[in-house]
Amino acid sequence: MMRKTVEITGVPVDHVTMEQALERVKQFLQEDRVHTVYTPNAEIMMDARRNPEFKKILCSADLCIADGAGVVLASRILGRPLPEKVAGIDLSRNIFTLDIGRKLRVYLFGGKPGIAETAAENILKDNNNVEIVGCRNGYFSKEEEPEIVKSIAAANPDLLLVALGKIKQESFIYNHRDELNSRVCIGVGGTLDVIAGKATLAPEFFRRHGLEWLYRLYKEPKRFIRMLDLPKYVILTLAIKLRIKK
Ligand code: UDP
Repeated sequence: MMRKTVEITGVPVDHVTMEQALERVKQFLQEDRVHTVYTPNAEIMMDARRNPEFKKILCSADLCIADGAGVVLASRILGRPLPEKVAGIDLSRNIFTLDIGRKLRVYLFGGKPGIAETAAENILKDNNNVEIVGCRNGYFSKEEEPEIVKSIAAANPDLLLVALGKIKQESFIYNHRDELNSRVCIGVGGTLDVIAGKATLAPEFFRRHGLEWLYRLYKEPKRFIRMLDLPKYVILTLAIKLRIKK
């Protein structure tokens, strides 16, 4: 399948709807090699500006989807509009429902102790065709990392969700991609917390109008500083549009 991407602030983002993204993942699941999926929002895009190594990782994705109204807005400002936001959590939930002709083997990695296990229970409750092949919390030392990689590889998942927070999760996937023995690896941020019921998604109204950030700010005011990346990102995009910045 031909991949159509649009470059947004130096990162190729896939020009896909949710349905098309899901179709791509379904195809990935049929190919016996690792595929990396990253889900940048405006904060992650700003991190990529600040950190060339991180940008290189995002650029190497097999599928890079716009998880956030900020990135979709940027695409419009730049005159290369993306069809819609494809949030990592929604994509993950949709993947659980895919019919691949056998059980989908899922490994959950990340979150505080117990989160992955609770998320696993909830996923199994709602999806008959999923098998959870492993859970691991996201707190570990450098020394423990090889052990974690080995246990993921031994579990041989179709889908590996990595929820370690931005940069950390993408770096983990990138650094170990050849050893993970997983067909699709996705960096999913706070997704396991949401599936475990420990964090709540913004109400439908906020989600529909691209106002998740506003809800998140209300729930977690201490994120204020990092959330300034959203307006900064929009201003950056406008500056690029007006050719003030590259
Ligand atoms: N986390 C983790 N290990 C760490 C740091 C964070 O497993 O060393 C988890 C944390 O428990 C949470 C997720 O990573 O479940 C980060 O969620 P957040 O919404 O902050 O993601 P971000 O916006 O940073 O991608």
